[in-house]
Amino acid sequence: MECKECGEEVDEVFPVKVSGRRKKICEDCVDRLREEGEIAEAAESAIQDMMEYKGRR
Ligand SMILES: [Zn+2]
Repeated sequence: MECKECGEEVDEVFPVKVSGRRKKICEDCVDRLREEGEIAEAAESAIQDMMEYKGRR
């Protein structure tokens, strides 16, 4: 799978909506874009699960 944000080949990509457009991006990019406030809605269940998983660590 290729991240549509950074172009890296990654094991897993997550569907997100960035600036109103849907993209599938890697975990690093999700983290970065979330911090930058670029991801308007993190409603996708995969993202939610990922964030919850991280939050428990
Ligand atoms: Zn990426």
